[in-house]
Amino acid sequence: MKDYVSALMADVKAKNPAEPEFHQAVQEVAESLALVLDRHPEYRQHKILERVIEPERVVLFRVPWVDDRGGVQINRGFRIEMNSAIGPYKGGLRFHPSVNLGILKFLAFEQVFKNSLTTLPMGGGKGGSDFDPKGKSDREVMAFCQSFMTELARHIGPNTDVPAGDIGVGGREIGYLFGQYKRLRNEFTGVLTGKGLNWGGSLIRPEATGYGAVYFAAEMLATRGETLEGKTCLVSGSGNVAQYTVEKLLDLGARPVTLSDSAGYIHDEAGIDRDKLKFVMALKNVRRGRIEEYAQAYRTASYVPADHTLDHNPLWSHKAQCAFPSATQNEIGGKDATNLLRGGVYLVAEGANMPTNLDGVAQFVNSRILYGPGKAANAGGVAVSGLEMAQNSMRYSWLRDEVDDRLRVIMRSIHKACVATSERFGVAGNYVAGANIAGFLKVADSMLDQGIV
Ligand code: NAP
Repeated sequence: MKDYVSALMADVKAKNPAEPEFHQAVQEVAESLALVLDRHPEYRQHKILERVIEPERVVLFRVPWVDDRGGVQINRGFRIEMNSAIGPYKGGLRFHPSVNLGILKFLAFEQVFKNSLTTLPMGGGKGGSDFDPKGKSDREVMAFCQSFMTELARHIGPNTDVPAGDIGVGGREIGYLFGQYKRLRNEFTGVLTGKGLNWGGSLIRPEATGYGAVYFAAEMLATRGETLEGKTCLVSGSGNVAQYTVEKLLDLGARPVTLSDSAGYIHDEAGIDRDKLKFVMALKNVRRGRIEEYAQAYRTASYVPADHTLDHNPLWSHKAQCAFPSATQNEIGGKDATNLLRGGVYLVAEGANMPTNLDGVAQFVNSRILYGPGKAANAGGVAVSGLEMAQNSMRYSWLRDEVDDRLRVIMRSIHKACVATSERFGVAGNYVAGANIAGFLKVADSMLDQGIV
């Protein structure tokens, strides 16, 4: 089976050059699936994995718009429609200058397995642009979003492909995108999730990814008879996922002590409490400022600017029991993983997508800590997006507690599926293998049912 994985990886690299993040995501999954492909020759015979790694469709388009000085700007737009075996394509849009085809393909690939784990009928997709919303006026963001949607609209639809937010795409951007879609199509449908509450959004959707990651962490701790009460937690990022991770950690009695952005991180020994979190939400969501300002506002905190000459991020060297990486891919390298383990961390729940590189993943798995990979731990966001789609189809809204209860049930069932699957395949406690295999089986069996398409 090792030969099969090596041959597959050689082929992936040859066919998709200069896409290291995509290679990384495929390699992690292919290694887990070796166990399954051994027992189920039918998947190999029908080339299921070979088909899963090939997007069903990739759309790449020009996004021209006019800035506030009257200058013409051109960005690149993408939508990866990866797999529709179990439902319409579903996955976020990312607006960030680093966005390229390889990054979006890795995200779309992971999304296929994640969506399958949620128990809801959603296929996998992802999209976005190299547009940077930072430092742009609201009018510029609107002009960009309208141009982006003018092309995207012809490829999506409530039963075809339903995008949502991701890095750089929050409530403001979803609003502008939805407005333009509605205008072009003259129809009011649930074509995007993460919508405003007044126009078809779901309660708990903004909170869902962070809350879900903490629920997943609580489930992992429960397997050892522990809770989050009193645990010191390292959180990275300071956007949507990080903010609601901190909120739920506080609800459950934990002590979050760090937050970051791309310019640096803060460490607050006294703990980030509700008032400080309120400050962060206003700073990031309204004033759109930098996390450095936290340390100016609170004397108990220190600020450490990002130093790209280092081979590690000192955020991960602080002593703690739990870590919630919630910023971006590959933010935990090999040395960071070593530092985390040395600092006493024995639970990692990934709010971000693929925040740990392959070396770090191997260290976490080998040291047998409670390691919840992004596919499982951050599936709460897309799960509540699925619930938003269900509410839109019914033209009805559930109450906050109703959605939160459903989110909790879904996170519990994802955890259960990971545990049961890892046991079934002889790798008990390995949540990476459990998530990859459980996510794959539902998609693979559906593909077998639907023939060679
Ligand atoms: P967000 O609100 O835009 O926040 C992103 C945060 O990460 C910001 O603090 C940002 O700092 C930081 N960041 C982004 N790129 C970075 C980089 N290259 N280096 C260092 N820091 C960086 O986005 P989000 O929705 O919280 O997403 C965070 C992660 O969660 C992503 O991996 C995303 O794919 C994943 N995720 C999100 C959802 C969801 O529902 N939103 C669901 C599942 C997974 P700056 O402001 O300085 O850029």
